[in-house]
Amino acid sequence: MSASAPSVTVIGLGPMGRAMAGAFLDSGHRVTVWNRTAAKADELVARGAERAATVEEALAANELVILSLTDYDALYAILGPAADSLAGRVLVNLSSDTPARAREAAAWAARHGAVHLTGGVQVPPSGIGNPESSTFYSGPEDVFEAHRPTLEVLTGADYRGADPGLAALFYQLQMDIFWTTMVSYLHAVAVARRNGITAEEFLPYASSTAASIPGFLAFYTPRIDAGRYEGDVDNLAMGLASVEHILHTTADAGVDTTLPATVRDFMRRAVEQGRAGESVVSLVETFSPAATGKGAAA
Ligand code: NDP
Repeated sequence: MSASAPSVTVIGLGPMGRAMAGAFLDSGHRVTVWNRTAAKADELVARGAERAATVEEALAANELVILSLTDYDALYAILGPAADSLAGRVLVNLSSDTPARAREAAAWAARHGAVHLTGGVQVPPSGIGNPESSTFYSGPEDVFEAHRPTLEVLTGADYRGADPGLAALFYQLQMDIFWTTMVSYLHAVAVARRNGITAEEFLPYASSTAASIPGFLAFYTPRIDAGRYEGDVDNLAMGLASVEHILHTTADAGVDTTLPATVRDFMRRAVEQGRAGESVVSLVETFSPAATGKGAAA
Protein backbone atom coordinates (compact mmCIF):
# COMPACT_ATOMS: atom_id res chain seq x y z
CA MET A 1 0.00 0.00 0.00
CA SER A 2 1.33 3.46 -0.86
CA ALA A 3 1.06 6.48 1.42
CA SER A 4 -1.48 7.96 -1.01
CA ALA A 5 -3.81 5.01 -0.55
CA PRO A 6 -5.20 5.18 2.98
CA SER A 7 -6.88 2.11 4.37
CA VAL A 8 -10.67 1.93 4.51
CA THR A 9 -13.39 -0.04 6.29
CA VAL A 10 -16.49 -1.07 4.35
CA ILE A 11 -19.54 -2.18 6.35
CA GLY A 12 -22.40 -3.64 4.33
CA LEU A 13 -21.62 -6.02 1.49
CA GLY A 14 -24.73 -6.07 -0.68
CA PRO A 15 -24.04 -5.68 -4.42
CA MET A 16 -23.11 -2.04 -3.85
CA GLY A 17 -20.80 -2.52 -0.86
CA ARG A 18 -19.04 -5.41 -2.61
CA ALA A 19 -18.45 -3.26 -5.70
CA MET A 20 -17.09 -0.48 -3.47
CA ALA A 21 -14.75 -2.72 -1.51
CA GLY A 22 -13.59 -4.22 -4.81
CA ALA A 23 -12.86 -0.77 -6.28
CA PHE A 24 -10.77 0.13 -3.23
CA LEU A 25 -8.83 -3.13 -3.52
CA ASP A 26 -8.28 -2.56 -7.24
CA SER A 27 -6.81 0.88 -6.55
CA GLY A 28 -4.38 -0.37 -3.92
CA HIS A 29 -6.20 0.50 -0.70
CA ARG A 30 -6.08 -1.86 2.25
CA VAL A 31 -9.70 -2.74 2.99
CA THR A 32 -11.32 -4.13 6.12
CA VAL A 33 -14.83 -5.51 5.61
CA TRP A 34 -17.70 -6.55 7.81
CA ASN A 35 -21.15 -7.81 6.88
CA ARG A 36 -24.00 -9.32 8.89
CA THR A 37 -23.98 -12.29 6.53
CA ALA A 38 -20.28 -13.05 6.74
CA ALA A 39 -20.13 -15.25 3.63
CA LYS A 40 -20.65 -12.20 1.40
CA ALA A 41 -17.08 -11.16 2.32
CA ASP A 42 -15.49 -14.40 1.08
CA GLU A 43 -14.67 -13.26 -2.44
CA LEU A 44 -13.27 -9.95 -1.21
CA VAL A 45 -11.13 -11.73 1.38
CA ALA A 46 -9.80 -13.97 -1.41
CA ARG A 47 -8.84 -10.76 -3.25
CA GLY A 48 -6.95 -9.40 -0.24
CA ALA A 49 -9.52 -7.72 2.01
CA GLU A 50 -9.29 -8.24 5.77
CA ARG A 51 -12.36 -9.69 7.44
CA ALA A 52 -13.26 -8.06 10.75
CA ALA A 53 -14.69 -10.57 13.22
CA THR A 54 -16.89 -7.93 14.86
CA VAL A 55 -18.30 -4.49 14.08
CA GLU A 56 -16.06 -3.06 16.82
CA GLU A 57 -13.02 -4.55 15.08
CA ALA A 58 -14.13 -3.07 11.75
CA LEU A 59 -14.50 0.37 13.34
CA ALA A 60 -11.17 0.13 15.13
CA ALA A 61 -9.33 -0.75 11.91
CA ASN A 62 -9.70 2.60 10.13
CA GLU A 63 -10.75 6.21 10.59
CA LEU A 64 -12.69 6.13 7.30
CA VAL A 65 -15.72 3.85 7.45
CA ILE A 66 -17.93 3.38 4.39
CA LEU A 67 -21.49 2.25 5.14
CA SER A 68 -23.49 0.63 2.33
CA LEU A 69 -26.70 -0.61 3.93
CA THR A 70 -30.31 -1.00 2.86
CA ASP A 71 -31.39 2.02 4.90
CA TYR A 72 -30.65 3.89 8.12
CA ASP A 73 -32.49 1.32 10.26
CA ALA A 74 -29.68 -1.07 9.34
CA LEU A 75 -27.15 1.55 10.43
CA TYR A 76 -28.64 1.74 13.92
CA ALA A 77 -29.02 -2.05 14.06
CA ILE A 78 -25.30 -2.46 13.32
CA LEU A 79 -23.68 0.57 14.94
CA GLY A 80 -26.04 1.02 17.89
CA PRO A 81 -24.57 -1.86 19.91
CA ALA A 82 -21.03 -0.74 18.89
CA ALA A 83 -21.57 2.97 19.66
CA ASP A 84 -18.68 3.04 22.14
CA SER A 85 -16.30 2.32 19.24
CA LEU A 86 -17.43 5.26 17.12
CA ALA A 87 -15.31 8.08 18.57
CA GLY A 88 -12.92 9.55 16.00
CA ARG A 89 -14.46 7.72 13.05
CA VAL A 90 -15.63 9.34 9.81
CA LEU A 91 -18.79 7.52 8.76
CA VAL A 92 -19.44 7.92 5.04
CA ASN A 93 -23.00 6.74 4.83
CA LEU A 94 -23.78 5.70 1.27
CA SER A 95 -27.09 4.10 2.29
CA SER A 96 -30.27 5.63 0.92
CA ASP A 97 -32.85 7.25 3.17
CA THR A 98 -34.57 10.58 3.72
CA PRO A 99 -32.95 13.98 4.41
CA ALA A 100 -34.52 14.01 7.88
CA ARG A 101 -33.02 10.64 8.71
CA ALA A 102 -29.62 11.77 7.42
CA ARG A 103 -29.73 14.82 9.72
CA GLU A 104 -30.81 12.61 12.62
CA ALA A 105 -27.96 10.17 11.94
CA ALA A 106 -25.41 13.00 11.75
CA ALA A 107 -26.55 14.22 15.18
CA TRP A 108 -26.49 10.66 16.53
CA ALA A 109 -22.97 10.11 15.23
CA ALA A 110 -21.80 13.42 16.71
CA ARG A 111 -23.16 12.39 20.11
CA HIS A 112 -20.85 9.38 19.89
CA GLY A 113 -17.82 11.42 18.76
CA ALA A 114 -18.01 10.47 15.07
CA VAL A 115 -18.49 12.60 11.97
CA HIS A 116 -21.21 11.62 9.50
CA LEU A 117 -20.91 12.37 5.78
CA THR A 118 -24.09 11.66 3.85
CA GLY A 119 -23.84 10.16 0.39
CA GLY A 120 -26.30 9.51 -2.40
CA VAL A 121 -24.90 7.18 -5.04
CA GLN A 122 -26.39 7.84 -8.47
CA VAL A 123 -25.26 4.71 -10.28
CA PRO A 124 -25.79 0.96 -9.95
CA PRO A 125 -22.93 -1.27 -8.74
CA SER A 126 -21.61 -1.55 -12.32
CA GLY A 127 -20.86 2.21 -12.22
CA ILE A 128 -18.63 1.98 -9.15
CA GLY A 129 -14.97 2.62 -10.01
CA ASN A 130 -15.91 4.87 -12.92
CA PRO A 131 -14.94 8.55 -12.38
CA GLU A 132 -17.76 9.60 -14.71
CA SER A 133 -20.28 8.22 -12.24
CA SER A 134 -21.44 10.61 -9.56
CA THR A 135 -22.32 10.58 -5.87
CA PHE A 136 -23.86 13.45 -3.92
CA TYR A 137 -22.13 14.23 -0.62
CA SER A 138 -22.98 16.57 2.23
CA GLY A 139 -21.67 17.21 5.72
CA PRO A 140 -18.66 19.10 7.15
CA GLU A 141 -16.71 20.40 4.15
CA ASP A 142 -13.24 20.06 5.70
CA VAL A 143 -13.86 16.41 6.52
CA PHE A 144 -15.26 15.77 3.06
CA GLU A 145 -12.30 17.47 1.34
CA ALA A 146 -9.82 15.52 3.47
CA HIS A 147 -11.33 12.26 2.23
CA ARG A 148 -12.34 13.34 -1.27
CA PRO A 149 -9.43 11.61 -3.03
CA THR A 150 -10.31 8.29 -1.39
CA LEU A 151 -14.03 8.69 -2.08
CA GLU A 152 -13.29 9.50 -5.72
CA VAL A 153 -11.98 5.96 -6.12
CA LEU A 154 -15.68 4.99 -6.06
CA THR A 155 -17.25 7.64 -8.28
CA GLY A 156 -16.96 11.34 -9.03
CA ALA A 157 -17.96 13.43 -5.99
CA ASP A 158 -20.59 16.18 -6.05
CA TYR A 159 -20.40 18.05 -2.73
CA ARG A 160 -23.75 19.77 -2.06
CA GLY A 161 -23.10 21.55 1.24
CA ALA A 162 -22.71 21.27 5.00
CA ASP A 163 -26.32 20.31 5.81
CA PRO A 164 -26.20 16.50 6.19
CA GLY A 165 -29.66 16.27 4.64
CA LEU A 166 -28.63 17.77 1.29
CA ALA A 167 -27.04 14.72 -0.32
CA ALA A 168 -30.09 12.65 0.60
CA LEU A 169 -32.38 15.40 -0.68
CA PHE A 170 -30.67 15.66 -4.07
CA TYR A 171 -30.71 11.87 -4.31
CA GLN A 172 -34.45 11.72 -3.58
CA LEU A 173 -35.16 14.49 -6.11
CA GLN A 174 -33.42 12.38 -8.75
CA MET A 175 -35.36 9.31 -7.66
CA ASP A 176 -38.61 11.30 -7.84
CA ILE A 177 -37.96 11.89 -11.54
CA PHE A 178 -36.61 8.39 -12.14
CA TRP A 179 -39.50 6.43 -10.69
CA THR A 180 -42.32 8.54 -12.14
CA THR A 181 -40.60 8.43 -15.54
CA MET A 182 -40.15 4.67 -15.41
CA VAL A 183 -43.75 4.14 -14.27
CA SER A 184 -45.09 6.34 -17.07
CA TYR A 185 -42.94 4.42 -19.57
CA LEU A 186 -44.30 1.10 -18.29
CA HIS A 187 -47.84 2.46 -18.45
CA ALA A 188 -47.34 3.42 -22.09
CA VAL A 189 -45.86 -0.02 -22.80
CA ALA A 190 -48.97 -1.61 -21.28
CA VAL A 191 -51.22 0.45 -23.58
CA ALA A 192 -48.97 -0.37 -26.55
CA ARG A 193 -49.06 -4.11 -25.77
CA ARG A 194 -52.84 -4.12 -25.54
CA ASN A 195 -52.75 -2.70 -29.06
CA GLY A 196 -50.39 -5.40 -30.33
CA ILE A 197 -47.25 -3.24 -30.23
CA THR A 198 -44.23 -4.80 -28.52
CA ALA A 199 -41.88 -2.94 -26.19
CA GLU A 200 -39.20 -3.49 -28.85
CA GLU A 201 -41.25 -1.75 -31.55
CA PHE A 202 -42.08 1.07 -29.16
CA LEU A 203 -38.47 1.56 -27.97
CA PRO A 204 -37.28 4.18 -30.51
CA TYR A 205 -40.38 6.30 -29.92
CA ALA A 206 -40.16 6.04 -26.13
CA SER A 207 -36.47 6.94 -26.32
CA SER A 208 -37.13 9.89 -28.60
CA THR A 209 -39.71 11.35 -26.19
CA ALA A 210 -37.40 10.79 -23.19
CA ALA A 211 -34.54 12.46 -25.08
CA SER A 212 -36.70 15.53 -25.78
CA ILE A 213 -37.28 16.22 -22.08
CA PRO A 214 -33.98 18.05 -21.31
CA GLY A 215 -34.87 20.66 -23.94
CA PHE A 216 -38.18 21.32 -22.19
CA LEU A 217 -36.44 21.52 -18.80
CA ALA A 218 -33.87 24.01 -20.11
CA PHE A 219 -36.59 26.17 -21.67
CA TYR A 220 -38.90 26.26 -18.67
CA THR A 221 -36.36 26.40 -15.81
CA PRO A 222 -35.69 30.18 -15.93
CA ARG A 223 -39.41 30.82 -16.21
CA ILE A 224 -40.15 28.65 -13.16
CA ASP A 225 -37.47 30.37 -11.08
CA ALA A 226 -38.90 33.74 -12.15
CA GLY A 227 -42.48 32.64 -11.34
CA ARG A 228 -43.47 33.23 -14.99
CA TYR A 229 -46.22 30.92 -16.22
CA GLU A 230 -47.45 32.72 -19.32
CA GLY A 231 -49.25 30.49 -21.76
CA ASP A 232 -47.45 31.67 -24.88
CA VAL A 233 -46.06 28.21 -25.73
CA ASP A 234 -48.53 25.87 -24.05
CA ASN A 235 -51.45 26.19 -21.69
CA LEU A 236 -53.28 24.09 -19.14
CA ALA A 237 -56.53 23.94 -21.14
CA MET A 238 -54.59 22.25 -23.96
CA GLY A 239 -52.72 20.05 -21.46
CA LEU A 240 -55.97 18.95 -19.80
CA ALA A 241 -57.53 18.04 -23.16
CA SER A 242 -54.38 16.10 -24.10
CA VAL A 243 -54.35 14.09 -20.87
CA GLU A 244 -58.09 13.34 -21.29
CA HIS A 245 -57.18 11.78 -24.64
CA ILE A 246 -54.50 9.63 -22.96
CA LEU A 247 -57.00 8.61 -20.29
CA HIS A 248 -59.58 7.53 -22.88
CA THR A 249 -56.96 5.73 -24.97
CA THR A 250 -55.91 3.89 -21.81
CA ALA A 251 -59.48 2.98 -20.85
CA ASP A 252 -60.26 1.82 -24.41
CA ALA A 253 -57.23 -0.49 -24.21
CA GLY A 254 -58.48 -1.98 -20.93
CA VAL A 255 -55.43 -0.72 -19.06
CA ASP A 256 -55.44 0.66 -15.50
CA THR A 257 -56.22 4.41 -15.70
CA THR A 258 -54.94 5.49 -12.26
CA LEU A 259 -51.79 7.14 -13.59
CA PRO A 260 -53.27 9.36 -16.33
CA ALA A 261 -56.30 10.06 -14.12
CA THR A 262 -53.96 11.40 -11.43
CA VAL A 263 -52.19 13.64 -13.95
CA ARG A 264 -55.58 14.76 -15.28
CA ASP A 265 -56.74 15.59 -11.75
CA PHE A 266 -53.75 17.89 -11.16
CA MET A 267 -54.45 19.75 -14.40
CA ARG A 268 -58.17 19.94 -13.73
CA ARG A 269 -57.56 21.39 -10.29
CA ALA A 270 -55.34 24.10 -11.79
CA VAL A 271 -57.93 24.87 -14.49
CA GLU A 272 -60.64 25.10 -11.81
CA GLN A 273 -58.42 27.62 -10.03
CA GLY A 274 -58.77 29.82 -13.11
CA ARG A 275 -55.40 29.04 -14.63
CA ALA A 276 -56.53 27.48 -17.95
CA GLY A 277 -54.50 30.03 -19.91
CA GLU A 278 -51.28 29.49 -17.96
CA SER A 279 -48.46 27.13 -18.90
CA VAL A 280 -48.49 23.55 -17.65
CA VAL A 281 -45.38 24.37 -15.61
CA SER A 282 -47.61 26.42 -13.30
CA LEU A 283 -48.52 23.00 -11.85
CA VAL A 284 -45.54 23.54 -9.57
CA GLU A 285 -47.85 25.98 -7.76
CA THR A 286 -50.52 23.29 -7.51
CA PHE A 287 -48.07 20.92 -5.87
CA SER A 288 -46.64 23.56 -3.55
CA PRO A 289 -47.75 27.18 -3.74
CA ALA A 290 -44.90 29.67 -3.65
CA ALA A 291 -45.54 32.52 -1.24
CA THR A 292 -46.42 34.82 -4.10
CA GLY A 293 -47.82 32.19 -6.47
CA LYS A 294 -51.44 32.15 -7.59
CA GLY A 295 -51.90 28.70 -6.05
CA ALA A 296 -51.11 30.26 -2.68
CA ALA A 297 -54.35 32.17 -2.78
CA ALA A 298 -56.41 29.21 -3.96
P1 NDP B 1 -28.81 -4.38 -0.28
O1 NDP B 1 -30.10 -4.09 0.36
O2 NDP B 1 -28.70 -5.53 -1.21
O3 NDP B 1 -27.61 -4.62 0.79
C1 NDP B 1 -27.68 -4.00 1.94
C2 NDP B 1 -26.71 -4.41 3.00
O4 NDP B 1 -27.38 -4.00 4.18
C3 NDP B 1 -26.36 -5.89 3.15
O5 NDP B 1 -25.01 -5.95 3.51
C4 NDP B 1 -27.25 -6.33 4.29
O6 NDP B 1 -26.70 -7.34 5.09
C5 NDP B 1 -27.29 -5.06 5.13
N1 NDP B 1 -28.44 -4.98 6.02
C6 NDP B 1 -29.73 -4.68 5.72
N2 NDP B 1 -30.48 -4.69 6.84
C7 NDP B 1 -29.64 -5.00 7.85
C8 NDP B 1 -29.82 -5.13 9.26
N3 NDP B 1 -31.01 -4.95 9.85
N4 NDP B 1 -28.74 -5.45 10.00
C9 NDP B 1 -27.53 -5.61 9.44
N5 NDP B 1 -27.30 -5.48 8.11
C10 NDP B 1 -28.34 -5.18 7.34
O7 NDP B 1 -28.42 -3.03 -0.96
P2 NDP B 1 -27.37 -2.64 -2.12
O8 NDP B 1 -26.05 -3.22 -1.85
O9 NDP B 1 -28.00 -2.88 -3.46
O10 NDP B 1 -27.37 -1.07 -1.91
C11 NDP B 1 -26.85 -0.49 -0.73
C12 NDP B 1 -27.35 0.95 -0.65
O11 NDP B 1 -26.99 1.64 -1.84
C13 NDP B 1 -28.87 1.05 -0.51
O12 NDP B 1 -29.18 2.08 0.40
C14 NDP B 1 -29.33 1.42 -1.91
O13 NDP B 1 -30.52 2.18 -1.89
C15 NDP B 1 -28.15 2.24 -2.39
N6 NDP B 1 -28.07 2.25 -3.83
C16 NDP B 1 -28.13 1.05 -4.50
C17 NDP B 1 -28.10 1.02 -5.88
C18 NDP B 1 -28.16 -0.29 -6.61
O14 NDP B 1 -28.33 -0.27 -7.83
N7 NDP B 1 -27.98 -1.43 -5.93
C19 NDP B 1 -28.02 2.26 -6.68
C20 NDP B 1 -27.86 3.46 -5.86
C21 NDP B 1 -27.93 3.43 -4.51
P3 NDP B 1 -26.92 -8.90 4.71
O15 NDP B 1 -25.98 -9.17 3.58
O16 NDP B 1 -26.58 -9.63 5.95
O17 NDP B 1 -28.37 -9.04 4.31
